[in-house]
Amino acid sequence: METEQKTKLLDGRALSKRVRESLKPRVQALREIGIIPRLDVLVAKNDPASVAYVRMKHKWAEEIGIVGESYPISEDTDQSYVMRKIAELNNDDSVHGVLIQHPLPKHLDEEAALIALGAEKDVDGITPESLGLLVSGAKGFRCATPLGMMRLLDEYGISCEGKHAVVIGRSVILGKPAALMLLERNATVTICHSKTRDLPEICRHADILVAAVGRPELIKGDWIKPGAVVLDAGYNKVEGREMDVGDVHFESAVQVAEWITPVPGGVGPMTVAMLLSNVVDAAERSRN
Ligand code: NAP
Repeated sequence: METEQKTKLLDGRALSKRVRESLKPRVQALREIGIIPRLDVLVAKNDPASVAYVRMKHKWAEEIGIVGESYPISEDTDQSYVMRKIAELNNDDSVHGVLIQHPLPKHLDEEAALIALGAEKDVDGITPESLGLLVSGAKGFRCATPLGMMRLLDEYGISCEGKHAVVIGRSVILGKPAALMLLERNATVTICHSKTRDLPEICRHADILVAAVGRPELIKGDWIKPGAVVLDAGYNKVEGREMDVGDVHFESAVQVAEWITPVPGGVGPMTVAMLLSNVVDAAERSRN
């Protein structure tokens, strides 16, 4: 059945490709002066999703001339290895960016690992130091996923100023930094979480709605204000469904929103583009 669809898609797949293309000449210029941008990754080797994400990150990195190593972390790896590896990467001038792919195996102290990582190499923008720089509005690497969302808003000329933004989710890697970035752009921000009362009613007041929950299709079309902008970071596996689904029920939301990110092809590819952009920034800074 044909629907009367006025909603416009925020095409993260296409924008991610353009961003990555735009990095190529910068990488080339660095290589010409002997700097080969490099991203190294610590990844839980028995977590298939993490391994797949990291493989894709390295593949897209290689396509634009960024090299990198992966260090597999297993159930037998001890904390001292992780801390030594981070110290080594902090001190290695040939490494420009380091990613600690979340989650590390449960027996490890991931927070201690993040604290140890130097902010100048934290291209995912998730260490306490980087988050502190975001809170204070100082220069530093910004969290790749919310940064990708902001880049999408910029690309499509969507202003945040004076708008009511509702962020569902308060994780350190996503919900909180997304809220801070929206605040930085002069939105009035409400942050919701699992203890929030009457979530649908709060969502109905959102000019910009950010879904960062991890609950498949929780947010329905009748939670969305007509004309709202919907950014769906959710990436959820659902048994019996071939494709991963977002936190937003796309089919009903698309009838109401003015702009919406699809899943897949919205926020996900932008995360990788922003990560690589941060690596190139880090490599350029290493010239000085
Ligand atoms: P997380 O750490 O599990 O945080 C989820 C947040 O959602 C928490 O703050 C939680 O509240 C809140 N929440 C859970 N159930 C809720 C409910 N019923 N109503 C309202 N709030 C609820 O997850 P995350 O790491 O932020 O990831 C969120 C989603 O984004 C996942 O689907 C993940 O796969 C996806 N993701 C995508 C990318 C990307 O590149 N596209 C990157 C990272 C994550 P409490 O704090 O009260 O527990």
